[in-house]
Amino acid sequence: MAAHTARGGTRGDGWRDDESVTAPVLLLLGRGRDAGSERGVDCPGDLPAPSDPHLVERARAAKAALGNRVFVLGHHYQRDEVIQFADVTGDSFKLAKEAAARPDAEFIVFCGVHFMAESADILTSENQRVILPDLAAGCSMADMAVLEQVEQCWDTLADLGIAESTVPVTYMNSSADIKGFVGRNKGVVCTSSNAKRALDWAFAQGDKVLFLPDQHLGRNTAVLEMGFSLDDCVLYDPHKPSGGLTADQLRSAKMILWRGHCSVHGRFTLETVNDVRERVPGVNVLVHPECRHEVVTAADYVGSTEFIIKTLDAAEPGSKWAVGTELNLVRRLADAHPDKQVMFLDKTVCYCSTMNRIDLPHLVWALEELVAGRVPNQITVEAATAHHARAALDQMLALP
Ligand code: SF4
Repeated sequence: MAAHTARGGTRGDGWRDDESVTAPVLLLLGRGRDAGSERGVDCPGDLPAPSDPHLVERARAAKAALGNRVFVLGHHYQRDEVIQFADVTGDSFKLAKEAAARPDAEFIVFCGVHFMAESADILTSENQRVILPDLAAGCSMADMAVLEQVEQCWDTLADLGIAESTVPVTYMNSSADIKGFVGRNKGVVCTSSNAKRALDWAFAQGDKVLFLPDQHLGRNTAVLEMGFSLDDCVLYDPHKPSGGLTADQLRSAKMILWRGHCSVHGRFTLETVNDVRERVPGVNVLVHPECRHEVVTAADYVGSTEFIIKTLDAAEPGSKWAVGTELNLVRRLADAHPDKQVMFLDKTVCYCSTMNRIDLPHLVWALEELVAGRVPNQITVEAATAHHARAALDQMLALP
């Protein structure tokens, strides 16, 4: 989200009591580009009509014409109509690594969201070009941490004399700017699979962690896997002066959690868990760690997207599963396991609306543009940012 920041002064004791507030600015899709945001604009040129009956044939033909020059990545949360054209499917980190492992592919068409395409650009070689079929495919969670806000938070910690002992850790689901900030400040990137290992490493480097941008993954990992208490965690609200926290709260916290969340996983509530247990006796509740703490605490199993897929693969025939993650994935898992009862945890639909902006017309458009010799919607990360972001990603790869 675009942001304006007004900075005030500090008191003599170093504690900030200014009016440092960050006010959101509305930016309508298709009405201008905010380079600091996950949100972009609509596509230039003519998109095929969604009703075009030849879309599948057109996508096949364009992909065949490009051959090995193109490699199509499909995130687990994508629509079926797009996933059918993916050369590989996976979570964001697996996909970025897959792109890096295909140096011969000139074009990486990333059917995911903006931060994922940025990570692919950082990890691939200079002669590979990463394309996002719809620039408006952003991530609401990534947008909740804007570089200017994070730098302001870091200034607050510096004023208190605690920045030096704080290690920034950012979830993969963050912009390249934020990964660059973390790399510059000797921190690490994590995924939902390795968050505990990343935090173990971070607490070996310093006394406390600034965890960006998903409060739930940070809290769930610290409390449920590392033995911290809820009182060890504080919530930093970038829209309030000094995050809405007192100096003592910041000084005594072990985990400073950024006030960000996933708009998809944040929808599941304790009521949805209780409700499914009542409706489906014997059901196993399986959720992603981006869900709220009370949901994760009430669930039977918690883990990353890859963990969810493996757990269902290994489940006994006849077993019942209520799954708290994105609906496209849950539907595909239900189709893949007809011998098990796999259902969506919530009663209402819950797609990732930004991920779903990449539909077949956008994929066809992107592929046909490439066939015509034009490179549409290329995602590039500025060199200095990419350098520091790469350091934070490499630190993750080097985790013990
Ligand atoms: S599911 Fe959540 S975290 Fe993932 S891309 Fe969508 S909004 Fe972002």
